[in-house]
Amino acid sequence: MQVKNISKRLRKVAGFVPQDAKILDVGSDHAYLPIYLIQQGSISSAIAGEVVEGPYQSAVTNVADNQMSDKISVRLANGLAAFDAEDQIDVIVIAGMGGGLIADILDNDSAKLASVKRLILQPNNREDELRRWLCGHNFQITEEAIVEENGKFYEIMIAEQGHQVLNAKQERFGPYLMREQSAVFLDKWQREVDKLEKALAKIPEKNLTERSAMSQKIKQIKEVLHAGK
Ligand code: SAM
Repeated sequence: MQVKNISKRLRKVAGFVPQDAKILDVGSDHAYLPIYLIQQGSISSAIAGEVVEGPYQSAVTNVADNQMSDKISVRLANGLAAFDAEDQIDVIVIAGMGGGLIADILDNDSAKLASVKRLILQPNNREDELRRWLCGHNFQITEEAIVEENGKFYEIMIAEQGHQVLNAKQERFGPYLMREQSAVFLDKWQREVDKLEKALAKIPEKNLTERSAMSQKIKQIKEVLHAGK
């Protein structure tokens, strides 16, 4: 089975994997990402870690079907327990999970990250929580991307060892994303404004505190959107 047609989201994630990196893909349910990277000639081997038995088995099957069992080690493991120092992992990918869960996975074994050069993270939500964790644990965000696929927006962040301080707005909107103001970024936050304005219209006039909190949220987003104009 060829995996060349992986999702636009995963292709974007794959684009941040350096040539010949030694990667661990955490939560690699079908092992699509490592299979794709090997098919592309970007890497020669990888570890695919998966904590749930069913997805682990489908990763094993896909890797075998692609005759890559000698190149991709599929491991049934919780988070960073999937690798040891001898694996010499220098890039960790964690994609397709909540930002809180990604932060927990990193936090549970943070000592192991000392030898890792790059984290490629694609949270499905709570991006601010993940950025906060990274900056509080000696990582700096070096690049960001945002893609839209099937009506959903996905942010991708690249983090490397280093020091960075982000303010609350940068944590929420992404320091690079809010500066670049790409069409996808503007679309994501305009949709959020539309959603919040609909919600505001439903809050009774007498609920002043609730209305004010909602208006404040809308104002913050609009400020970021207008900053690029
Ligand atoms: N990474 C793939 C992607 O982006 O398409 C799969 C995303 S899938 C929604 C999330 C996968 O992560 C699930 O298969 C889940 O079992 C796995 N997972 C969740 N927590 C995990 C953990 N602590 N360690 C390893 N895998 C985990």
